[in-house]
Parts: sequence; structure tokens; C-alpha cells
Amino acid sequence: MAFPQTRLRRLRASPALRELVRETELRAGQLVAPLFVAESGPPREPIPGMPGVERLSISEAVQEARAAADLGVAAVLLFGIPAEKDAQGSSAWDEEGVVQLCVGALKRELPELLVITDVCLCEYTDHGHCGVLTGDPALSRADSPGVAPAPGVDNDASVELLARVAVSHARAGADVVAPSDMMDGRIGALRAELDGEGFAATPILAYSAKFASAFYGPFRDAAGSAPAFGDRRGYQLDPANGREALRETLLDVEEGADMVMVKPALAYGDLIAAVRRETRLPVAAYNVSGEYAMVKAAAAAGHLDERAAVLEILTSLRRAGADVIITYHAKDAARWLAPN
Ligand SMILES: [Zn+2]
Repeated sequence: MAFPQTRLRRLRASPALRELVRETELRAGQLVAPLFVAESGPPREPIPGMPGVERLSISEAVQEARAAADLGVAAVLLFGIPAEKDAQGSSAWDEEGVVQLCVGALKRELPELLVITDVCLCEYTDHGHCGVLTGDPALSRADSPGVAPAPGVDNDASVELLARVAVSHARAGADVVAPSDMMDGRIGALRAELDGEGFAATPILAYSAKFASAFYGPFRDAAGSAPAFGDRRGYQLDPANGREALRETLLDVEEGADMVMVKPALAYGDLIAAVRRETRLPVAAYNVSGEYAMVKAAAAAGHLDERAAVLEILTSLRRAGADVIITYHAKDAARWLAPN
């Protein structure tokens, strides 16, 4: 039956009716707050473009995590900013590294809060790539704009180091490890290494469909992880490729991922929905730094109602199929979602 018998506005007539037929639920318990933990520098240091997000010392990170947990946020996702970088990124698997020490502090102070660790090398390498290089970085430099750069990242050597990083995080007490490097075969390698080292119970949240995106800009300032030459298009996905993103995701599932992720989120709703259809795993969406920065800038200029915009964005990610949302808005959103 069509109009005039069918009138969809009937069910939109009152708040109670709208509440009754609302299809998508957004809860603080579905949100993950990323934290940048710095080994050196001031206790709290603002990040350009990301008002409200700071680089934190370990003790400030614990305070920030406590505030998030008190609001009902499900988990924190840790990124480390080491004092020392080298070609291999060796501080990434240091038992006394900034992430390892922060995990220890968080598990002591807030044992109930889930701690997820980002597993990558780019914050730890002096060249800023997500793995170790095959040759002289100078050889990999793109000579002219438009020429596809070849970062020369050695896949298999990098995977070995990433597995070592994951084990060191698990040993420190991480509840979940989240490899973000996009090397081939890393999920299987991490699973084998974790199992072999006695961490068979540690789940892997795979950054499966991670795109070479323009929306990571503020994060690179925050983590000091901008590549010194070239870019990450030699390992991250081409934003034009949806089918390839599904292949990546299904490979990660086959290799033993416990959860899969689509990153970034806002321009990739089609892939969140596609991954949701193609797998039975929990799906995470990463609402990235540039997406956060856009909302903050527009709100600060008076062009957007920040609260309404953020809740609409996060709800849209849930509607697309995300079970878990990693977002710099986590604390604010949790506060806005709290009953009272
Ligand atoms: Zn990386």
C-alpha cells in the first residue's frame, strides 16, 4: 500500500514512538578511547588540530583512562611515543618501553578496564615507516610528484619484529593486541608467536581494511610518525579499492583475527557494511584523527552543533555495522549518552 494509506510519519509523531522503533543503539560500552603515551616531554601536551586530545605521560594516561572508564567507555587503545627511535624501531618491543610500562600501570590501577595496544613500528622507527626497510631510504625516494613511491619496507622481516612487539605487549598485560601495519601475513605470525609464548588467550584486533588516507594527518603530528620519505601506499590500501579491502579482511579472518577493523570510518561506511555482511566476527570502525579534527574545527567556527554531529556520526557507524567504535570523541560521547 502506498500513500495516502501508508504514512511513514505516523511512527515519527512523538519521542516515545521514535524511541520504540529506533533501530540502532549507541552505548558508551561500544566506544574505545585512543591514548597517546609519551616517554618524555611534559605530562600533558596539546596536539595541533585535535582540541581535547593530548600526548600524555604514563601517570596522566592512567588519569585519562580512569575518567573514560568512569564514564563507561569500554577500553583504551594505547599508542606509544618513545624517547629514542632507530631504524628497526627496537623500543617497540622493549619490556621497559613506554607502552609496556603504561599497560602495567593501567592493569594495576584499573584492572577492570580493557587495555588494547596498537602494534606497529612507525612510531618507533627513525624513518617513520611501519616496518624495517629493505635498502637505503634514499633509493626509495619518489623523484617527482605523481610517481608511485616504493617505500621498500621488508614485509617478512617486519612481520617477525611485529610479532615480537605483540608478545611484549601481552607479557605486559595487554588484554587485546591490535596490529596496524598492513604487512602481509602478520595476523598468522602474531597468532603463532602469541600462542607459542603462552598467550593463546590474547585476542587480536586486526586493522584489516586500513587505507592510505588523507585523514590521518593530526595523528602523525600526535605520534610523530610521519614517514621521512615516500608514503604508505606501498602497504596500506588504495582508497579506491573495496573488493581488495574485503580480500584483506577475509585473509585476516583466515589467519586467526578475533576482531576486524575498517579505518578510517566516515568515508568507508560501505566497507563497514560489506565487512559486516562477509564475516561473523565483531567489526570495529576507527573514527580517525582527521575526522575528529573536521568536527572540532567546524564546531569551533560555529558551523556545527558538536554534540548532535558527534552522536549522529557514531550512530551512523553503528548503523553501518560497527560493533566497536574507536573514537577521540569517546569521553564526550559517553558523557552525552549517560542517563540523567
Ligand atoms: Zn604504522
